[in-house]
Amino acid sequence: MLDNNRLRIAMQKSGRLSEDSIKLLTTCGIKINLKKQELISFSENMPIDIFRVRDDDIPGLVMDQVVDLGIVGENVLEEELLRRGIQSKKILYKILQRLDFGKCRLSLAIPCSKKYVNLLSLQNACIATSYPYLLKKYLDKKNINFNFFILNGSVEVAPVAGLSDAICDLVSTGATLEANGLKEVEILYNSQACLVSRLGPLPSVKKILIEKLITRIQGVIKARESKYIMLHAPSSKVQSIISLLHGAEHPTISRLAGETNKVAIHMVSSETLFWETMEQLKVLGASAILVLPIEKMME
Ligand code: ATP
Ligand code: ZN
Repeated sequence: MLDNNRLRIAMQKSGRLSEDSIKLLTTCGIKINLKKQELISFSENMPIDIFRVRDDDIPGLVMDQVVDLGIVGENVLEEELLRRGIQSKKILYKILQRLDFGKCRLSLAIPCSKKYVNLLSLQNACIATSYPYLLKKYLDKKNINFNFFILNGSVEVAPVAGLSDAICDLVSTGATLEANGLKEVEILYNSQACLVSRLGPLPSVKKILIEKLITRIQGVIKARESKYIMLHAPSSKVQSIISLLHGAEHPTISRLAGETNKVAIHMVSSETLFWETMEQLKVLGASAILVLPIEKMME
């Protein structure tokens, strides 16, 4: 029997977002006893139940209030919003946080052998896609007539198979397009995974838990972008060295045992330290330069 006071989070069962979604929750301190074949897994240390489903079902589960939160690509969410809009179904949701993984774009691609000038080159084309509503929204706005048919997988083989003139599909590196002799010609939509919440009244225990979760998620994302930098610097060069380290607030400067001309500088930097900067630091006399990843942060 499901307990209504436990927070329900839906995430993709198996696919590109699954691993990062689980990792995010685990890094936030949620211990999950994942059972491969089961739809619902229970957290051992927090009042949270995890629903593992197909990503396409997540926006509906959130909007129909079956679950409280969902982790899903914005592309899937937006497609479902457009679909519901046309079917006059209720659209109730709130994006709580973009999650900085699952980054991709929805693009139009055509065979490399075909000439492309602008969107008019696609006038009356037949386009294969899993995202008919996003495609229609984009092409209607540009007054391009088109025919489409839906393929829910392997969309990129449609032109080679003679099924379509173009495709509208998700791209991250572009390697799949290239491998199928296709070139990307228009970007329709940029996407990443997001944490989406249902609307409507929630018991206060759940509200508090969601607040806590968002703070932790923000801490994980911030930590991912930040580095802990440690180095030894000649005392006379401290200012020039610090000015090379962008994104660092309030460095700690401390004495080195048995050393009077050098100090240790420690800092958290919101930017990656590139090799070029490390080389410049070295020229200024810095030594023992360490750049460490940070796992969690709370401000
Ligand atoms: P499901 O069985 O859950 O329906 P799926 O085949 O629809 O899975 P995946 O291919 O696992 O979905 O992709 C899930 C999400 O990952 C996409 O909706 C998108 O938000 C994101 N994503 C990131 N990069 C890519 C990419 N290169 N191709 C496809 N999806 C990507
Ligand atoms: Zn899917």
